Order: sequence, then C-alpha cells, then structure tokens
Amino acid sequence: MASAGLIAHAAVHPERIEVITGPMFSGKSEELIRRLKRAQIARRRVACFKPDLDVRYHRNAIASHSAQTLEAVTVANVEELKAVLMPTIEKVEVVGIDEAQFFNGSLVSLANELVGLGRRVILAGLDTTFAGEPFAPIPDLMAIADEVTKLSAVCMQCGATAVHTQRLGSDQSLVLVGAAGVYEARCRACFQPWVDEHAAEQLELPVGARAEEPSATKA
Ligand SMILES: [Zn+2]
Repeated sequence: MASAGLIAHAAVHPERIEVITGPMFSGKSEELIRRLKRAQIARRRVACFKPDLDVRYHRNAIASHSAQTLEAVTVANVEELKAVLMPTIEKVEVVGIDEAQFFNGSLVSLANELVGLGRRVILAGLDTTFAGEPFAPIPDLMAIADEVTKLSAVCMQCGATAVHTQRLGSDQSLVLVGAAGVYEARCRACFQPWVDEHAAEQLELPVGARAEEPSATKA
C-alpha cells in the first residue's frame, strides 16, 4: 500500500462523542453544521438527524438562525432514529444529532453504541431549561463525551455574556420551539426562571382535593 494511503488511514478511527451546548442563539446548530460540512469535505459519510418538533424552517434540514442548512432526517424519537440509521450504519462514519435535548435518555445508550462501532457522534442541544435547570439528557451526554463545547450567547437585555434561555409569554409547553420573539438569550442577572404556573397550582392541591373545589385551604 502506498504511503499516501497510510496517511489517509490515520483518520480511519474517528470514534468520539462531541457535545455542542449552550443557550438558544449561541450558534449550536451553526457549529454542528460547520463540523458536519468539514467532515463531508474530508469525504466522510455523514448522517444527520433531528427530532420531529422543530418545524421553524425546513422539515428535512437542520437550520441555524443564521440560515445555514444541512440535510437532516426528521425522526420522532430515538427508536425511530435507530430504525433509520442502523440498517445503513456500514455506510455512515459521522452521525450528527441536532436539538438533542428533545430526545429521551436512551440517546445516551445510542451514543455509546455508535462510538463503540467506531463512529464519530456530534450532538447539539440546550444545556438548561427555561427554568434554568439541567435539560436531560444533555448533562449525561456531556459526562460521556470526549469533548464538550459550551457556547454562550449575548444577553438581549444588557449585552453581557448570556448562559440562559429566557422564555417570553405564557405557553405551557416545554417543547415549544421557535426563535426570536418567543425566546431571548439572557445573562444570569437578567434571567428570570420560567415557571409552569398550572403545574405549581396542581402540586399545591391537598391530596384527594378535586380541581373544581375552591382553594380555601391554600396559604
Ligand atoms: Zn443581561
């Protein structure tokens, strides 16, 4: 075998887990797309997935806020992701997963499985919820990763470094996905943790109380 071929084979064992995380507007999808496009330039065969929740731009592409796109397969959950990926895994060297916070904990097992098969896995997702708490399964993915890139955004209130995603408005769904106008990047000082008021009220009800009873026992 020619020496040029041996040099090329240095990249034959790319197995590693990379996590790209941070608040909204920190450029996570942009960084994921950048890495995947570099892999494509290096003639690596790339497969890219995202959950079925993100309909903000294209249904079959990852979109960053800065209009960069890359073709992605939309899947409902980790089981569907495996069902699509595994039959073709011999032809895939790099697996990208965007909005990874919207998958459940079995994504951690899948990442371990893929790296065990010698694949490079790159996952991007929010590290904290709108309440400012760790957003599973990203913390567990960060723990098993070879490399974690934690990005920050710019606080849309004061211009400081932003580590939180501020939710504006009163929609009750944690999963609501959108962009500017519904969310803001905020620094620690400007961030106000978002609380699901309906859930809090339900927790305050005495055991056995019916929802329609007057809340005379409260406070
Ligand atoms: Zn601020």
